[in-house]
Amino acid sequence: MKCPLCEQEFLATYTIREVFFGRSPYPLCVACRESFVKKSDPACPNCAKSGETGTCADCKRWKLEYPNRHFDHHALFEYNDAMHLYFSRYKFFGELHLSHAFKQELLLALKHEKALLIPIPISRTTLRRRGFNQVEELLKSSGLPYIHALRKKETPRAQSELTRKERMTAPNPFFLLEECGSKLADRHLLLIDDVYTTGRTLNHARDILETAHPASIRTFSLAR
Ligand SMILES: [Zn+2]
Ligand SMILES: [Zn+2]
Repeated sequence: MKCPLCEQEFLATYTIREVFFGRSPYPLCVACRESFVKKSDPACPNCAKSGETGTCADCKRWKLEYPNRHFDHHALFEYNDAMHLYFSRYKFFGELHLSHAFKQELLLALKHEKALLIPIPISRTTLRRRGFNQVEELLKSSGLPYIHALRKKETPRAQSELTRKERMTAPNPFFLLEECGSKLADRHLLLIDDVYTTGRTLNHARDILETAHPASIRTFSLAR
């Protein structure tokens, strides 16, 4: 089997469960797999930022902006150098086959999830350039169902080109898909993003979803 990240051949290992359920083996070689670091405690209880023993400074600022919002973010991996390299290939070089790299972890984390999964959308321009929505493809690779509830307006510059200050003051780029409004009322929602950086994107998306009166909204990202 060939590792999609380093392109080295490696011997696939099957766990009992994978054999029993006829699932595909873990997609990455051991070296690539070990270059990613799973989230561990201590971490901010609100945004999963590592090394924090209580609410972090960022979340204290969010609580000032949104005093009635319950912040409950879950992230699977640290955004380390390996993750940075992964996303530059997956998102910026459009290597779609890399959407499978974390399918086992995502499936394990979300298969018993009762909330509706809502991926963060990308703009039409980004979709045309990249060819796919990276968050949706991560969910698809794990076979996890999700719904389209949000759209993203065209913005003059991509998030990744903005400074931290510009990101924090950017206007809300999202809007609700009209046909979705009634489907979300009184439902539990889980907003999914690829990377949590400042929390600005997820909080903007929450602003829009709240107008549909869901029972609750939590947030999730592959990396933080
Ligand atoms: Zn590898
Ligand atoms: Zn925090």
